[in-house]
Amino acid sequence: MTGGIAPSIVGERPTPADEARLLASLPTGLLIGGEWRDASDGGTLEVHDPSTGEVLVAIASATPADGRAALDAAVAAQADWARTPPRERAEILRRAFDALTARRDDFALLMTLEMGKPLAEARGEVAYGAEFLRWFSEETARIGGRYATSPDGSSRLLVLKRPVGPCLFITPWNFPLAMATRKIAPAIAAGCTMVLKPAALTPLTALLFAQVLTDAGLPPGVLNVIPTASAGAVTGPLVRDPRLRKLSFTGSTEVGRRLIADAAEQVLRVSMELGGNAPLMVFDDADLDRAVEGAMLAKLRNGGEACTAANRILVHREVAAEFTERLVTRMREHTVARGTDPASRIGPLVDEATRSKVHELVLGAVAEGASLALGGAVVPGPGYFYEPTVLTDVPRGAAVLAEEIFGPVAPIVVFDTEEEAVGLANDTEFGLVAYAFTNDLARALRLAETLEVGMFGLNTGIVSNPAAPFGGVKQSGLGREGGAEGIEEYLETTYVGIADPWVGS
Ligand code: NAP
Repeated sequence: MTGGIAPSIVGERPTPADEARLLASLPTGLLIGGEWRDASDGGTLEVHDPSTGEVLVAIASATPADGRAALDAAVAAQADWARTPPRERAEILRRAFDALTARRDDFALLMTLEMGKPLAEARGEVAYGAEFLRWFSEETARIGGRYATSPDGSSRLLVLKRPVGPCLFITPWNFPLAMATRKIAPAIAAGCTMVLKPAALTPLTALLFAQVLTDAGLPPGVLNVIPTASAGAVTGPLVRDPRLRKLSFTGSTEVGRRLIADAAEQVLRVSMELGGNAPLMVFDDADLDRAVEGAMLAKLRNGGEACTAANRILVHREVAAEFTERLVTRMREHTVARGTDPASRIGPLVDEATRSKVHELVLGAVAEGASLALGGAVVPGPGYFYEPTVLTDVPRGAAVLAEEIFGPVAPIVVFDTEEEAVGLANDTEFGLVAYAFTNDLARALRLAETLEVGMFGLNTGIVSNPAAPFGGVKQSGLGREGGAEGIEEYLETTYVGIADPWVGS
């Protein structure tokens, strides 16, 4: 169906009946070569609601043989797909953007159900995730090349851009839609085929999105989707398969490091969007209203389960007491509840393991001398809820400052000088994003030049933007997603050397 756009099947304020209807309408198979199929061994994977711990639905769980079949389909589709007119690929992306936007409430509810984030945030992710489709539909027709005369005039240079070829995408659970569209949209734009392995905790959004793309006219085999309970066993052989040309991974640095090592075997092109440990700096000349709101956004967006989450809040001694008091007041106002509850500002963490890790980091910091200014406890009852928490006097060596917290916990560290703040900010193996609040222009520019990060939020707590190159330095990754740079990750450069056309003419 490439005609009319279907509206959402659920309402803006979904009821339990809406939830049941949405779940019953989902594709639950593997998408391979344009067909929805069961796993080759009939195996299934249960997807849970983190706010209750209950099973939402069971879906097919791919085996290594299914993984190979998915790559076979991507390889078979590659040559024809690469030759499609750019405008045709652009229009598929644009139709998918329109369809995703029209089904905003379905996608938002689905993400809330499988991942836990409040509906308002899930709607924000639909808008953000869909924008990659629109952005890359616009980039499709702008893939260029060049023709030049060599400096000595003796030859001509032709530079062509071609699709890299079949790609493998591995995505995390924290942004089930946007982390997929950030890879799929530029790959479609460039003319690559692909196999997507979504996170085992949140595969439903990817399946529904694949259906939207199919309905938008994406040819069979261009996108193949293989959720699985055995990530390494299914993707390992694909990474070692010489027909695969690119691996793009978003997830933890630990897994990314292993995948880079595996990819080295056949010198596979890789893009890696890995972990973060963002510092958020508040200087004594900052607009404190802006700094508090920025910290709220950088800390609590997605319940703190974001690679861009402010992990270390560094505050100048002069403003530390006032900033802390205001942050505590704002965080206390946030209602912790199931994401479908209209009052919910913080949903559950994604699973028990994530919640236990968050709690251990908080207890560890307190044992080392930090004070609890707010929260610090597991919320009893079903689901994996955790209280919004503020830690002060956090000792410099505490694990909570070194590791990704991935929860609604704000550790505050006081500093005295800009040099000290920059030293603290850069004292990590990660380099994804940093935030600073200051009204001193020269200082802001010094920070932009010295912070070891791929992205810098200046007087803002959010940097994610489909029109900007998202990505990190150091152990936060390789490559960029979004912006004019994003499509380059899916293009290969071919240079053609040409004899001087005037010789012998
Ligand atoms: P993760 O544990 O690294 O998992 C990410 C993906 O990798 C999942 O699909 C997972 O499958 C798969 N995976 C795990 N082990 C694998 C293996 N041995 N071989 C192949 N695939 C494997 O990360 P996560 O917990 O889902 O996500 C949180 C992390 O992602 C955080 O570190 C966060 O900072 C990072 N992140 C980074 C960005 C960025 O743009 N830089 C954006 C979002 C998140 P299973 O689901 O089956 O385990």
